[in-house]
Amino acid sequence: MKNEEKMTLREAFSLNFRAFRILRQSCPGLFESVFCDAVLTALLPYIGIYFSARILNELSGSRRPEVLWRWVLLTVSVTAAAALLKAIALRWKNCKEELYWQKGYFVNSKKMLAMDFCVMDEQSTQDLYSQILQNSMWGGWGLTQVRSIFERIIGGLCSVVSALALSVGLFLVPVPADSSFAFLNSPWFVLAFLGILVLITLISPMCATKADSYWVKSAESSKFGNRLFSFFGFTMHATERMLDMRMYSQQDIGTKYLLKDDPHSLNSVIARYAAGPMGGLAALSAAISTMFTGFAYLFVCLKAWAGAFGVGSVTQYVGAITALATGIFNLMKNVGDLKNNGAFLKTTFEFLDLPDRMYQGTLTTEKRADRQYEVEFRDVSFRYPGAENDALRHLSMKFKVGERLAVVGENGSGKTTFIKLLCRLYDPTEGEILLNGIDIRKYKYEDYLQVFAVVFQDFQLLAFPLGQNVAASQNYDRERAEKCLRMAGFGERLDSMPKGLDTCLYREFEEDGVEVSGGEGQKIALARALYKDAPFIVLDEPTAALDPVAEYEVYSNFDRLVGDKTAIYISHRLSSCRFCDEIAVFDGGQIVQQGSHESLLAEQDGKYAELWHAQAQHYAKEKEREEIF
Ligand code: ADP
Repeated sequence: MKNEEKMTLREAFSLNFRAFRILRQSCPGLFESVFCDAVLTALLPYIGIYFSARILNELSGSRRPEVLWRWVLLTVSVTAAAALLKAIALRWKNCKEELYWQKGYFVNSKKMLAMDFCVMDEQSTQDLYSQILQNSMWGGWGLTQVRSIFERIIGGLCSVVSALALSVGLFLVPVPADSSFAFLNSPWFVLAFLGILVLITLISPMCATKADSYWVKSAESSKFGNRLFSFFGFTMHATERMLDMRMYSQQDIGTKYLLKDDPHSLNSVIARYAAGPMGGLAALSAAISTMFTGFAYLFVCLKAWAGAFGVGSVTQYVGAITALATGIFNLMKNVGDLKNNGAFLKTTFEFLDLPDRMYQGTLTTEKRADRQYEVEFRDVSFRYPGAENDALRHLSMKFKVGERLAVVGENGSGKTTFIKLLCRLYDPTEGEILLNGIDIRKYKYEDYLQVFAVVFQDFQLLAFPLGQNVAASQNYDRERAEKCLRMAGFGERLDSMPKGLDTCLYREFEEDGVEVSGGEGQKIALARALYKDAPFIVLDEPTAALDPVAEYEVYSNFDRLVGDKTAIYISHRLSSCRFCDEIAVFDGGQIVQQGSHESLLAEQDGKYAELWHAQAQHYAKEKEREEIF
């Protein structure tokens, strides 16, 4: 983290103010509710202080029942009204805060979803994002802290103003001139007293802020330990990880690292700071504040002793002056927090300001009833950021509408990269990709994505009802969802589900949720692509997790499945591509051959024939082995 350099107050203020504006926009009403609650919370004690002083003065003075009654009635009604208002404000604030936890965090996740995919895919971006989450979880720093700082500044300001109003009398009411304490009336004494007050009130928050700055200092060194803690404390319990964890006792490796680097242990950097300068400064800050209270008591009591005011006013002045100190302390401490938080906000903004360059297109893709969408790769080359070699080299091809194209090739030959470019997850380093003759960068990205339905190899389903997974929506056409599931070969399994489309996948949220196998998941993912009914359907190794019978079903139903769509079928198993009209053979990021199965096989020296014979031999051996056993 780049937090170590000194930050000016101005810079800290502008960073926090920017965060304030972002949160205000994403959580309307939050700061208004926090403001009302903070003002009422700060004022409420002064109502008590003021009225109890009046009652005590009357009790220790003239003791007139009608006056006492009046004060008691006023005290009760004003306190009750203020408490009611405070309760209303608190409820309003609580409601807004519930939303804040959700929407405040969404600021970061929205950016993650909207940013250029290639930037999102970079390790440095993932590191930044994880650092931001960590800062927030660990010490509440970053965007989350801004709300608290705002609340404390408003509360502090109200406290200071009210406390000043209630303590003015302390300095203005003189002790009798003949008292031996008459020196208390001297303006020099009052000035000296105020000077000491201000000094103490400033030193204490400075110490507290300095103590808090050790959070910033230890953030970098706690990064690794915090990640370990977060992973082994929470994420490792995910069902899909549990098998490996148990089988290989992976927690032991984690524990070893954690023992060495646990940010919550007594050996951690932050704990050592806490036992040393950080704790010392925090204690000094508390001690100075307590000294201040003692000092205020001494002054007030001396003046009362000398006869400047009655016993009731003693409570008022002591209460007010202590509150004044607390208010000033809070204000000053928050100025320090602004600085400390500014350092963490720098990381947040470094992330939020990552440039979004890719998805700036404005053209809408026309909705064509005839599905005449033509895509062309024109001399496209692509290199992953930081890679030494091109993953795709001078690739040119045109998809004929309604064609079934197979993309085959060995692992690492560039098949998936080709699909990633087609879906604009990355832009070509050279050359261009055209949709109906126009560079795809010119189209609105959301519109462009509507042209494709892709089943990725590592597809993800959600722990929501089956039908919603297929439709990717809560409101959907049940008949269509069911039809797509049956087309994808999920019919029998669907019939065995008592709740049908309403069956929840996985057990995260529903006790009677179903665990689906890899193959079943793949069928659901296929149904989801069919439901989208996009003009292009892309299947990346769609039968990898299917058993041979299900695989056969997919092939034999392929024409019916795909209908009039243009289909791209990626596989490294050549036998599963025979039914496609056209086969493109990838090798080393290039298309080395293209044609029908028969024509490609006829080219004896070609890559296709080489792969075909190698695979045929492999499967023949498999078969032989099966027969032996
Ligand atoms: P295939 O799908 O045919 O197995 P890929 O398209 O996944 O091949 O990979 C093509 C080449 O690009 C490989 O050399 C691979 O190592 C490289 N590659 C893939 N993804 C990345 C990435 N995110 N960063 C850097 N290189 C990558």
